[in-house]
Amino acid sequence: MKSVRIRNKDYTLQVSKIFCMGRNYLEHAREMRAEVPDAPVVFMKPSAALLTDGEDIVRPPISKLMHFESELVVAIGKTGSRVSPIKAREYILGYGIGLDMTLRDVQDEAKRKGLPWTTAKGFDTSAPISEIIPVDQIINKQELDFECRVNSVPRQRGSVKNMIFSPEYIISFLSFIFTLEEGDLIFTGTPEGVGEVNEGDIVEAELLGYTKITHKVKVA
Ligand code: MG
Repeated sequence: MKSVRIRNKDYTLQVSKIFCMGRNYLEHAREMRAEVPDAPVVFMKPSAALLTDGEDIVRPPISKLMHFESELVVAIGKTGSRVSPIKAREYILGYGIGLDMTLRDVQDEAKRKGLPWTTAKGFDTSAPISEIIPVDQIINKQELDFECRVNSVPRQRGSVKNMIFSPEYIISFLSFIFTLEEGDLIFTGTPEGVGEVNEGDIVEAELLGYTKITHKVKVA
């Protein structure tokens, strides 16, 4: 089982489930030529896919096309189910920045055939994540902005303000289907600007004002 660091706390968080949201920004849904969803699109990654700052992202041999997707990540701090959106904030331990690395060619084929996305989204190293910033160290929860750069060139800019479904709504939605547990992570979806990375590229994702991850890309 993998764990993530929590800033300024003397314990780490054992990661349980990793939920990911698809199509949570209008412009990204458009660039993927996907319908804008009327409910959150949910998939999962295994916790073994987690990667901490500085470790290499490795594209496995089943793919020739890997994309970066930078995403705000919410860490869950306590167990709960059937949580109302009003109460949802009580379940947020903190926020981090993550990358939902995606084998786009494998995903496109899965979409065409109506098959699951597990291999395209859940492979080893597909979930780089920063340390978690506890909510008491976040100055304004409406101002969580992030940026992704590849080889120092800005490629994506996202904000919690532009999400179709807010973190609180997502937590509530998920909690009526899955029991949320301390250590669950939610990747909240990516804004427009996703793109390919290849051998030797450096991907940086930054939760602006808080924390940053840097990863080199390898091709297996
Ligand atoms: Mg994503």
